[in-house]
Amino acid sequence: MKDGSELRDAIRALLLLRGMEGPMLGIITVTGAGGIMSADACEDFGLMLADIPPGLPEKLTEGIPEWMHIANPVDIWPVGMIGGNYEEVYDRTITDLLESPGVDGVLAIVLAPSSPLHAGLNLVKILAEARREAGNRKPIAMWISMENASSVADQCESIDAVASFDSIEQGVKGLSFCHRYHQIRQREVPSPRSFSLNRQQVDALLKKGRNQKILLEEDDLRLLAAFGVPVVRGVLACDLDELKAEAENLTYPLVLKLAGPDFLHKSEWGGVITGIGSLDEFHNAFYKMVENVRLRNPDIRIEAFQLQEQAGGKELLLGLKRDPQFGQVIACGFGGIYTEVFRDISRGNVPVDRSQAEKMLKSLKMYPLLTEVRGQEGIDMEALLDVLERLSFLATVVPDIAELDINPLIAAVDGCRAVDARILW
Ligand code: ADP
Ligand code: MG
Repeated sequence: MKDGSELRDAIRALLLLRGMEGPMLGIITVTGAGGIMSADACEDFGLMLADIPPGLPEKLTEGIPEWMHIANPVDIWPVGMIGGNYEEVYDRTITDLLESPGVDGVLAIVLAPSSPLHAGLNLVKILAEARREAGNRKPIAMWISMENASSVADQCESIDAVASFDSIEQGVKGLSFCHRYHQIRQREVPSPRSFSLNRQQVDALLKKGRNQKILLEEDDLRLLAAFGVPVVRGVLACDLDELKAEAENLTYPLVLKLAGPDFLHKSEWGGVITGIGSLDEFHNAFYKMVENVRLRNPDIRIEAFQLQEQAGGKELLLGLKRDPQFGQVIACGFGGIYTEVFRDISRGNVPVDRSQAEKMLKSLKMYPLLTEVRGQEGIDMEALLDVLERLSFLATVVPDIAELDINPLIAAVDGCRAVDARILW
C-alpha cells in the first residue's frame, strides 16, 4: 500500500465487493473521456477490457444512426442523447454486462450534471434491478459525479457488491484488489519437495553457526552444499605457501578473496581479485590484496584467504530472512555488488514449491535477462528453480536462521553456483 487513501480503498473494495473471479472488466460510461481514463487505468492495475456482450450493440443502437459504434467501454452518451431514454439504456447495458460470461466485474461511471436529460436516472433502482435480473454478485465499482453524489453513493452501496470510489482510477484499482484477493484465495497449497542431506555434516556446521551466531565463507558454502545447492570449488588458507599448494588442485582462472569476520564486505577492502590466470598473476594478486588492506587499515591482521575457481554467468541474489509475522521469507533477485542499486527482488513465504519459485523468478524485472535474449542463450532455469526449492527446504529444516544471503549465485547456461554466502543466527 502506498498510503492511507489506497489502504482505505482496498478495505472498502474487499468489504463491499469481495472477490472478482477474473480480470475482465466491463465499463459503462456517459463520457468518452471517462472511457479512455478507465481503459488506461485497466492497463495500469492489471485488469483487461472484456469483449462487449454479443447483441448489446444492436439492442442499444436500435432506431439510431448506424455509424454509432458501440464497444467496451460502453459509452451510452450518444445513444442516450439521441434515443432519449437514459434509464432504460443504463439498465440494459449494466444488466447485459453483469450477465455476460466474459465480464468479471463492472465499472459504472455516472456523470449527471443537473440537466433535464438525466432527471429520470434512478440509479439505485437500476442497480437493484440489474443485480436481481443477472442473478450474480459480480462486483460493481462506481464513480458518481452529481449534485448529491455522496447520498446517492450511500444508497447504491446498500445493494450487494456495489462500492463507490472517489475517482475512476480508484474504482479500477479497487476492482483490481478484488481480483488479487480472488487469486490469493484460489492459490493452491504449496507442495514443497524434501531432499536428502548429509546430516552429519549439517549438524556439525549448525553447531558451529549457532555458537558463533554467524557462518562465513567456506562454512556457509559447505552448509549449502550439504543441502545440495551447487557451490563453486574453493578453499581457505592462511598464507601464500598454503595458498600456492591449494591452487594446484584448482582450475584457473582463480579468484582470491579476503576471509574472516573483519571483512564482511570484501570488495570494499579491495579484497576480491578475479581473473587470476597463472601462478605469476596469483603472486601479484596476493601482494596487491595485502597492500589494499594495509592502505585502508594498517592495524588489521588478515587471518585467512579464500581461493576459488572463477564462475561465469548472471549474478543473482538468493536469501532467507526470518520475519516475526511471516516466518521464513525467501527472496531472489538481481545480485552482485549492485544489488542495492537496482533493488530488483521478489519474495515468497517458505515453503515454496516449484511453481511458486517460477512465479517469483518471472516477477523480476531482470527475468528477460535470464531467458534467451538477442541471440544470447538463457541460463539453466531448471537448476535455478532447484536451488530455490532447496533453499526453501533448508529454511524448514533450520528455522532458527535469522538471515541467509547468497550473493552472488552465478547462473550460467549449464547450471549455477553459489560463490559468496553469509548466514546469521
Ligand atoms: P563481497 O560480497 O564480500 O564483496 P563476493 O565474494 O561476493 O564479495 O565478490 C564480489 C564480486 O566478485 C561478486 O559479485 C562477483 O562479481 C565477483 N566474484 C566473487 N567470487 C567469484 C567467483 N568465484 N567467480 C566469479 N566471480 C566472482
Ligand atoms: Mg557478495
